[in-house]
Amino acid sequence: SIPVLRKPDWIRVTVPAGQTWRYVDGILRKRNLHTVCDEAKCPNKGECWGAGTATFMIMGDTCTRGCRFCAVKTARSGESLRQDEGEALALAAAELGLRYLVLTSVDRDDLADQGAGHFASCIRAVKKHVPEIKTEALIPDFSDEALAVLLSAGPDVVAHNVETVRSLQAVRDPRATFDRSLQTLTNAKKLGAPLTKSSLILGLGEKEEEVLSAMDELRSAGVDILVMGQYLQPTAKQIPVAEYVSPEQFKAYAREAWSRGFTSVVSSPFARTSYHAADSAGTAR
Ligand code: SF4
Ligand code: SF4
Repeated sequence: SIPVLRKPDWIRVTVPAGQTWRYVDGILRKRNLHTVCDEAKCPNKGECWGAGTATFMIMGDTCTRGCRFCAVKTARSGESLRQDEGEALALAAAELGLRYLVLTSVDRDDLADQGAGHFASCIRAVKKHVPEIKTEALIPDFSDEALAVLLSAGPDVVAHNVETVRSLQAVRDPRATFDRSLQTLTNAKKLGAPLTKSSLILGLGEKEEEVLSAMDELRSAGVDILVMGQYLQPTAKQIPVAEYVSPEQFKAYAREAWSRGFTSVVSSPFARTSYHAADSAGTAR
């Protein structure tokens, strides 16, 4: 059997509790909305929600792809789209006083537009109801057509994750490749995304020089914001952690990223794509 690495001291999980969370949970349940913060039991929930940032999962919980590090359930086709989802998001964003809303979704290869139309209508609904809110769309590897539809709704940040270095792309679904993801990021910028963003999951067995060259390639694709965080095996069914990258190494990677000209860098064991998302988008202006 594969030896399981012991979690080091710097990996701790705090579960937020108390009145605030019950209030927020109540609103989410009432609107039938799902957050990545909850579903992924993200350790940053206290910090993010306290700062008015939350990440919502739209278009259901069933992905048409299957990545080996991801616990989301997989099927040939996803759930049917909920027509009132944008409205529900808008009302929840207003009730929660959100300043920064991240929308993400499972991959929907079963939809002709990859779900871009639904993303766009959700963003429009939220901006109409809460005009001052900033929005970020964390998207699948959209085609040019899908990007154009998404960008017509005016997201502030378009994020798409390459997930890992080139040599380890096989941990992603076979339909995903480093080049296809770079293409999505390059084209998002070309088609007018104000800011683009990508994330690397570390601890999958990548070498330092591979991380550095991934940074170079992302910069060449015009990516503004880079996020690096530690892989944590969600359940026993996903691939095991190859390494717990030390906090010092995360800092070293952050320095390398800043020196390459990213306008915003988040690099720490707990960093997730949406962690400090509002700060990242703000300081990048
Ligand atoms: Fe939610 Fe992202 Fe913050 Fe985690 S890092 S709590 S998923 S917004
Ligand atoms: Fe998970 Fe995204 Fe891969 Fe789907 S495409 S399995 S949601 S990482």
